[in-house]
Amino acid sequence: MFQSLSDRLSGVLDKLTRRGSLTDSDVSEAMREVRRALLEADVALDVVKDFTEKVKAKAIGQDVVKSVTPGQMVVKIVHDELVAMLGSTAEPIDLNATPPVAILMVGLQGSGKTTTTAKIGYRLKTRFKKKALMASLDTRRPAAQEQLRVLGEQTEIDTLPIVAGQTPLQIAKRALEAARLGGYDAVLLDTAGRVTIDEELMDEVAEVRGVTQPHEVLLVADSLTGQDAVNTAKAFDGRIGISGIVLTRADGDGRGGAALSMRAVTGKPIKLLGVGEKWDALEDFHPERVAGRILG
Ligand code: GDP
Repeated sequence: MFQSLSDRLSGVLDKLTRRGSLTDSDVSEAMREVRRALLEADVALDVVKDFTEKVKAKAIGQDVVKSVTPGQMVVKIVHDELVAMLGSTAEPIDLNATPPVAILMVGLQGSGKTTTTAKIGYRLKTRFKKKALMASLDTRRPAAQEQLRVLGEQTEIDTLPIVAGQTPLQIAKRALEAARLGGYDAVLLDTAGRVTIDEELMDEVAEVRGVTQPHEVLLVADSLTGQDAVNTAKAFDGRIGISGIVLTRADGDGRGGAALSMRAVTGKPIKLLGVGEKWDALEDFHPERVAGRILG
């Protein structure tokens, strides 16, 4: 049975009966539990190491005050550090630019990119009263443009009419033009995904990014893929440059480790969480909640 990190730390530290400050060996034993719990929550090894170093430095020499147990004290330090590393405050999608605000959606195939594009369109409409135009730049997978069109129909969000034979770049330019002429607030560009990251995909997305100059570049990543999601984030951020991350399948039984790793590795904010298949199954990212989930 899964034991929460809070319980484990209490187990290790609360047998300390003396008062005074925490010693190196008290804290080292506690950090072994933190390390184990974070690895179980699927946090990347480098991030775990970095994290435990920081927590350790803060905990050693801390005076244990009467009102809390040593375990509670370290849990608080771990919690605060998790929140700090996750980004402290929720960062919503930035629409603060001259309309139509271009948002480029990137990521691997199967990550939930197309669904997330429609979810964001739906969110802009229902929550922010903004009119979005969606366009699929995926010319490789024959059904992709049609999939977005159908999603647009279901969510009542306009999609760019499909013209056969156009390149992703031509579609992107047409989408921007149509959004300008049509008085849209935002234009959502759903790029092609691949099963793995390859140079051709990166070149294509980089070219579209260069020409469209999007205000946001959102990487959609599956939170259940752990270390793969972290590698994907690193690759996309290094090659394309991303402004934020949307983590999908946060409704699954992952414990939030991918969020911590991706944030730590890229330094880019997790902006939204996908929490199901429905259009409205999209939530703001709250670092406090994810920290709580990791702590168990
Ligand atoms: P794409 O290839 O990246 O465009 O992926 P799709 O958007 O086609 O999504 C693949 C599948 O994942 C679909 O069945 C979606 O309904 C599902 N999906 C997307 N986001 C989420 C999510 O946050 N939670 C769950 N449970 N399913 C999701």
